[in-house]
Amino acid sequence: MYDYDVIIVGAGPAGTTAGYILGSYGLKVLVVDRSRFPRKKLCAGCLTHKTIQLLQRVYGESVDSLKERGVIDYESDIYEILYRDRPLIKRRYPLPFYFVDRTVYDNFLLNKVKGAGVEVIEGEAVVSYELLKNELRTSSRRRLRARFVVGADGVNSIIRRTFATGPFNQRLWDKNMATALEVFVDRAVIDRDIGHPMILFGFIDYGYSWVFPNKGQILIGSCGLNRVNRKRFIDSFRELLSYMKLDGLDDIRIESHPLPSGGFLTEPVFGNTLLIGDAAGFTDPMLGEGIYYAQRSGELAAHAIYRAMKNNEAIGEVYNKLLHEIILPDFIYALKLRGIVFGYLNRFQFAPMRILFNLFGDIPVEVVHGLRTYKWFKKREKVS
Ligand SMILES: Cc1cc2nc3c(=O)[nH]c(=O)nc-3n(C[C@H](O)[C@H](O)[C@H](O)COP(=O)(O)OP(=O)(O)OC[C@H]3O[C@@H](n4cnc5c(N)ncnc54)[C@H](O)[C@@H]3O)c2cc1C
Repeated sequence: MYDYDVIIVGAGPAGTTAGYILGSYGLKVLVVDRSRFPRKKLCAGCLTHKTIQLLQRVYGESVDSLKERGVIDYESDIYEILYRDRPLIKRRYPLPFYFVDRTVYDNFLLNKVKGAGVEVIEGEAVVSYELLKNELRTSSRRRLRARFVVGADGVNSIIRRTFATGPFNQRLWDKNMATALEVFVDRAVIDRDIGHPMILFGFIDYGYSWVFPNKGQILIGSCGLNRVNRKRFIDSFRELLSYMKLDGLDDIRIESHPLPSGGFLTEPVFGNTLLIGDAAGFTDPMLGEGIYYAQRSGELAAHAIYRAMKNNEAIGEVYNKLLHEIILPDFIYALKLRGIVFGYLNRFQFAPMRILFNLFGDIPVEVVHGLRTYKWFKKREKVS
């Protein structure tokens, strides 16, 4: 009756993580992506400690092996936070931030999926989906059915759109939609040596800007909520480029991409169809970190599908319960914190932010790395 046990739409970090685990369980899995890999994905490529732990747990890859394979491009155990050009804090923390090129990272993860015996179709988009039949149609007019379908097709997910009458709240989604702008600049063009990541407040509302180092390039970006920035995105980004002394460069190409930021689905399951990663809005509403949550939700969805197939457990109950235990509490508290930091503190600008960051010391970076929860910044017994 079905062509596959599971079809995964989208081969970003979410889809490939789910696919790899399900393939390793011996299920008949298909991953389909509209792009041919290696393909570009606009991203700053920053990996936190919790992502490194996931890569170890799921793939058995260590920092050393990822460096050997050329997946990790750069690392820094120093980070700096500024309010525009005024430093708030600059600290060293024993767990570094790692930087990857998403073209390399996503291709690496796709090769893992292929190695796990999963069938992969590249360069073919899913153009329609019948939610009640678990049947999709691709741009090459293939009709494919699976017992379970996973929507891992990113922020503009075609699978999520079929949830419109079910657990998807379009108004909440739109209210929390952000836009990220980014440029990639050769190191030689920048007049200073940038060796560590910098986070900058004050250039954009309800969001922040970043200057991230790679080996050969510097990534400069900004991300903010659409509803408060509207037409100011480009102007505020030009101010950021001007601060980096890059405003004279004519050939600089500003790229942009939507980012879900707080409109996450709390029950992203309908029948035997599940959403993971950006398709479900799973990025940290405070910081926009999405790679970890894409991979973690892919991991949880794979476990839920396996349990549903093996023990006949209800897929929706299992997946929702895992999400409510592991991912969603952080999002709920990050959303509250976002209101305080961006809605209140940011307005008072430099002084209160400086007091706050100095008061909290290493706590914010420990939250980002997953050593503490967003809820009261409690230490985690085990980093998940
Ligand atoms: C500018 C910017 C900077 C960012 N920086 C960071 C960062 O430093 N660290 C971090 O953790 N996160 C960052 N993020 C967020 C991160 O990029 C995303 O959260 C992450 O890529 C989500 O992974 P995903 O697998 O859910 O979706 P994606 O990576 O978007 O993958 C979706 C896949 O689905 C495919 N697809 C889409 N539609 C279809 C279709 N109809 N049929 C078939 N295939 C389809 C696409 O081709 C794509 O390969 C950033 C985002 C932006 C925009």
